[in-house]
Order: sequence, then C-alpha cells, then structure tokens
Amino acid sequence: MDGLTNISTIKELMERHGFHFSKALGQNFIVNPSVCPRIAEMGGAVGCGVLEIGAGFGVLTDQLARVAKKVVCVEIDQRLLPVLDETLAEYDNVTIVNKDVMETDLKALIAEHFAGMEVVVCANLPYYITSPILMRLLEEDLPVKSITVMVQKEAGERICARPGTRQSGALTAAVWFYSEPRQLFHVSRGSFMPAPDVDSSVIRLDVRAEAPVEVTDKKDFFRVVKAAFAQRRKTVHNSLASALGLSKEKVGEAMDRAGVARNARAEQLGLEEFAAIANAMHDIFKEGSK
Ligand code: SAM
Repeated sequence: MDGLTNISTIKELMERHGFHFSKALGQNFIVNPSVCPRIAEMGGAVGCGVLEIGAGFGVLTDQLARVAKKVVCVEIDQRLLPVLDETLAEYDNVTIVNKDVMETDLKALIAEHFAGMEVVVCANLPYYITSPILMRLLEEDLPVKSITVMVQKEAGERICARPGTRQSGALTAAVWFYSEPRQLFHVSRGSFMPAPDVDSSVIRLDVRAEAPVEVTDKKDFFRVVKAAFAQRRKTVHNSLASALGLSKEKVGEAMDRAGVARNARAEQLGLEEFAAIANAMHDIFKEGSK
C-alpha cells in the first residue's frame, strides 16, 4: 500500500484500528519515504528470500515485497495483524509470523519458507533488544548472506568499530567474529513516528563463511570476551580473574602463554589476542566443567 510514510494515512489507520504505539515494544515507525527503499536496495533484497523482524504497519515490508522473491516477517504484536492484512493486501509473497523473534526457531523458519533461495535479513530493529537479536542471528549459523538493520546510532558505531579500538565492546568482538560490518547511512530521529530520543544508523553485516581466527572452542572465546569486558576499566588480567572466578595466577599464566601483556585492557585487544587467551585457557575451562 502506498502512503505508509504519510502521517495522515498512519493516523487514519491508527484511529480505525484503535492502535496505540507501544514504547515497551520499541514501536517507532519509519515516516521518511527515502529510508525503506534504500534499506531494501542496500540490504541486497532484490530476488532474495528476506527475513524481517518487526513489521509495524508494514512500511519496510512493503518495499521489500516489491523487490524480493519472498518476505517472511516475525512480528510479536498481535494488534498489528489486521492492519497488516490491509496494508500488505496486494502482495502474495509476504508471510507474517505472529511470534516473539527471541522464541522463534529461525533455522526451521528459513528452511520452511526459503528453500532454494539466497536469504538476507532486513529490519528496523526494536532497540530494546538489538544486541540479543543480533547475537541470535549470528550465533546460530543461520544460512543468511547478510544482515542489514537499523540500530541506534551509538550502537551502530560500537558494532562497526574495529576490535582493539576505544569504542569496541563485547558485541563488537562477536560481530566481527561472525561478520564484516559496515555503516551504510545515518537516519535522523525525525524520520520516525513517534520520534525517539536518539538518531539511528543502518548497518550491514556480511556474514563470513569462515571465522577469521582459529579457536579451539567457540564457547571459550565468547566466555573470555564477555569476561574481559565485564569490568572494562580493569586490566583484562583482573577482569578475567574476577568475572570467571579464577585465581590471578592461573589467568596470568594463560595470558603469558597467549603472548598477551598482563596489563592490557579489553578495548586494546584484537580478535587474535582474544582467541589466543581463550585457546590458552581451554584446559582450565575443561577442568572447571568436570
Ligand atoms: N518495520 C517497522 C518500521 O520500520 O516502521 C516497525 C519497526 S519498529 C522499530 C519495531 C517492530 O518490532 C515493532 O513493530 C514491534 O512490535 C516489533 N517487535 C518488538 N519486539 C519484538 C520481538 N521480540 N519479536 C518480534 N517483533 C518485535
């Protein structure tokens, strides 16, 4: 349906369906007409199977449906279903799945709907669960080529910063482990209804075919990354010992074996250093799990 970025169309739909925005569900809908076509194009949706998260009134879904082979959108809010029936009525290549994305078996969903298609993810994410959604999409080894999402501007900068730089955090390391991220474009807060308190960015993560560093066990790697950033003002040595409940001596020896200085801070470490520490701690973790 045309006009989904038009404020009077949105107000009319809201009134007729008795719909009110839910802040708790991160409902800030796009009203800037240039944004969704750009997400669809730069997100590589043309001719693909597209997994969307959060349809809202369907403003992005509509643009995706125009160019994609098929769009499946997971939307938690049941109140939106009658609205979407109306706004997306002209498309026979769209399926709305009324579920919480965090409780949806995405592998099964992709297998069921996108057999034989190249799959990409495109979404204007609900900001309250940006990190858990991205982690799920990346950790589950889903057969997706890329993930193009709108996130808060600051989150986008943190995610795309290189590991080993001041802005990096645990999510940065995870994102870079699984993908090559980049910022596509910024979107001002006035491009949404209602307008959020912060500006946004669209980022694209190109999923890697292979991990960029060798790790003995992925779980060890993420345990080390999380623990190292748990108290980012401390040295990695102290942070690992306290977050993992290990003696400083054991952690220090593992860092020596990994060739990482004991006084390093998490934001100074690249993926190679995190991998070296995790590999050096593999036996300690194995011992602890017995
Ligand atoms: N795509 C629309 C747009 O761009 O205008 C809406 C984006 S809005 C930022 C986020 C959407 O995600 C809302 O429709 C909200 O109901 C939905 N949502 C929030 N939490 C969700 C969850 N856990 N699972 C699935 N959808 C969710």
